[in-house]
Amino acid sequence: MKIYNSLTDKIEEFKPIKENEVTMYVCGPTVYNYVHIGNMRPVITFDMVYKYFKYLGYKVTYASNFTDINPKIITMAKEMGITEREVANKFIDAYLKDLESYNCSKIDKRPTVIEHLDDIFAFIEKLIEKDYAYEKDGDVYFRVNKIKDYGILSNQNVSELEAGSRVDIDDKKEDPLDFALWRKTTEGEQFNSPWGKGIPGWHTECVVMINSIFGNKIDIHGGGVDLKFPHHENEIAQSMALNNNHLANYWMHNGHINVNGEKMSKSLGNFILAKDFIKMHDANIIKIALFKTHYRLPLNFTDELFNEANNIDNKIYNALKSAKLLLVLNNTYSIEKNVKDEKFEEYMNDDFNTPNVISYLLELLKELNIEIRQKGENVLLLYNKILMITSVLGLVYNLPEITKEDVENYNKWQEYRKEKDFENADIYRNKLIEKNII
Ligand SMILES: [Zn+2]
Repeated sequence: MKIYNSLTDKIEEFKPIKENEVTMYVCGPTVYNYVHIGNMRPVITFDMVYKYFKYLGYKVTYASNFTDINPKIITMAKEMGITEREVANKFIDAYLKDLESYNCSKIDKRPTVIEHLDDIFAFIEKLIEKDYAYEKDGDVYFRVNKIKDYGILSNQNVSELEAGSRVDIDDKKEDPLDFALWRKTTEGEQFNSPWGKGIPGWHTECVVMINSIFGNKIDIHGGGVDLKFPHHENEIAQSMALNNNHLANYWMHNGHINVNGEKMSKSLGNFILAKDFIKMHDANIIKIALFKTHYRLPLNFTDELFNEANNIDNKIYNALKSAKLLLVLNNTYSIEKNVKDEKFEEYMNDDFNTPNVISYLLELLKELNIEIRQKGENVLLLYNKILMITSVLGLVYNLPEITKEDVENYNKWQEYRKEKDFENADIYRNKLIEKNII
């Protein structure tokens, strides 16, 4: 199994910390608003990663947080005239609904910041004790210049960063690169801390949740490429300071999404919410559209792409449906959940090469359709392989149930057809059409 590691910029052989186990963490949403389709790409990508490790037989523990304390939530609470907790809970619920409608697996751990406040205090105190952080007027900042390889993830060096305009100038900081671990707040929600009232910094929240759930290092840390800097870089800096490691052995980043060649933005009016998008396209189609491009590459949403994905989805559904009917009629229908496929593994082991998996899936569909026509002996195997591959990709196919009565109806339809009694044949044919069996 090979994974592209953003930390080293190399394709590396995957070696878990504990044999046969995988620990993974993906930065979750800041729950101040509905998520847009760009936010769904890491969700769908890492759901596939999670399912594939399970397919390989690993015991996987997947955590993804809710950033439920954040200045954006405070602003939204003011705008909506409700409390920060009400804002957070409203958008946590909305997000969970999105995940359900996109058929994403339930994640093993869903930590929130609010339940980890004590851990955050202890973590920041340790950083202060070790001289990696300092308090100034109720704020606490991290001393970036103490981290030798700062910039390792985003391939930037400290002098470049200092010269650039990407860091905000703040008089309270010793150095413009230093970032806030704790911020004094004067408006909205405030929490009591050893440094006075305020809220934790976003970069410290994720590290603390990872440390609390998994200990000081995990196998895979994932997220969108836009989080590399400063968020992930700063998570790594804190982990280097306290645990002398890069927090995760493998850092994986998915590319961003454009719509018709343009970046999504509110001002361009091409900002699509996940909950609206799912009304336009079925979850299967959205996933196929995503997987046709490698997860690390930028992805352009076009009508053409969705038409293509729609075609593929129909092909899969129709072939599976025909295969199932044939198998049931022959009394050989059975679902084999542990079916394996070498080619599929070869592509997936190559840094989750889903575009190749989709092409391979199309080949298998062609083969299956030929086998169905010839009533060949490989229908069952191909059926199960396609079902297995699509389920690792998170695609869901609800095929019609076929009862004994349906089988009888089918046989009667065929008998009448042979006798050229088309009137009666149509009666049985219509019954099968009504139940979506043919
Ligand atoms: Zn994070």
